[in-house]
Amino acid sequence: MSTDLIDIHAPAIEIQSLVKTFGENEVLKGIDLTVMPGEVVCVIGPSGSGKSTLLRSVNLLEEPTGGRILIEGIDVTDPETDIDRVRTRIGMVFQGFNLFPHLDVLGNLTVAQRRVKKRSKAEAEKIGHEMLERVGLAHKADAYPGHLSGGQQQRVAIARALCMKPDMMLFDEPTSALDPELVGEVLQVMRDLADEGMTMLVVTHEMGFAREVGSRLIFMDGGHIVEDGDPREVLGNPQHQRTQDFLSRVL
Ligand code: ADP
Ligand code: MG
Repeated sequence: MSTDLIDIHAPAIEIQSLVKTFGENEVLKGIDLTVMPGEVVCVIGPSGSGKSTLLRSVNLLEEPTGGRILIEGIDVTDPETDIDRVRTRIGMVFQGFNLFPHLDVLGNLTVAQRRVKKRSKAEAEKIGHEMLERVGLAHKADAYPGHLSGGQQQRVAIARALCMKPDMMLFDEPTSALDPELVGEVLQVMRDLADEGMTMLVVTHEMGFAREVGSRLIFMDGGHIVEDGDPREVLGNPQHQRTQDFLSRVL
C-alpha cells in the first residue's frame, strides 16, 4: 500500500495497547490514546512516568514492545510501512534546541528540506523565510544559533519543524530549558499554531498553556494514562488520587 493514501477521516494519532520495556523496566504499560486532527492534547505527569517515551514512540524513535500505533490511519508498527515517509508528516521539538551551531538560521531551516524533501535551494529558502516570519524571527535568517537567546533558538527549532510542512507536531517540554522570561514567546508561537488548527501532542509543565490552549489534558503516572479529559476538568476536578497528589505538588 502506498503511504501517500491518507484517510482524512482517520485519527491523526491512534495508539492501541502500547507497551514499551527497557530491559526489565516496563515503562509504558498499555497506553490507549487517540488524537483527532486539530486537537491539542497536553500531557502532564511526574518525571519518569513515560511521557517522553510515549512521544518518542509516536514517530518510532522508540520501537514499541507491544501494541499498535497508527498515524493518519497508517500502521507504523507494521514492518511493511515506510516509516521514513510517515515520519516526515510529524514535526518534533525537544527540550534542547538541537540546532546546528555551524549553520546560520536559514541554513538550519533548509538542510532537511533539501535532503529529505529534495527541494531546490531557492524553494527551501523561500519556505524557510516564510516559517521564520511565522515565529516572528524574519530578521534573524543570517544569525548563528550561538547568538540567539534560548527562546529564539526554540522558535527557530519550531520553524525548522514547520518547514517540513508536517500534519502534526510533537513537543517534549519545549520550554523547560528556558529562562522564565523567555517561556512566553515560545508558548505564544505554540498558541498561534494551535489557533491555526495544527494537531499537537504537547508534554508540558505549563499548566496555564494546558488549560487555555489544550483541547484535552492527559495525566500520566507509572506508565499509565490515569486521567484524560477536558483540561479545566482535569485541573479543577481531578478524579484520581494520583492526579490530585501531583497537582497539589505543582500548582
Ligand atoms: P518522563 O519523560 O515522563 O520523565 P521517560 O519516558 O523519559 O519519562 O522515562 C520513563 C522511564 O523510562 C524512566 O524510568 C527512564 O529511566 C526509562 N528510560 C527512558 N529511556 C530509556 C532508555 N533509552 N533506556 C533505558 N531506560 C530508559
Ligand atoms: Mg521527559
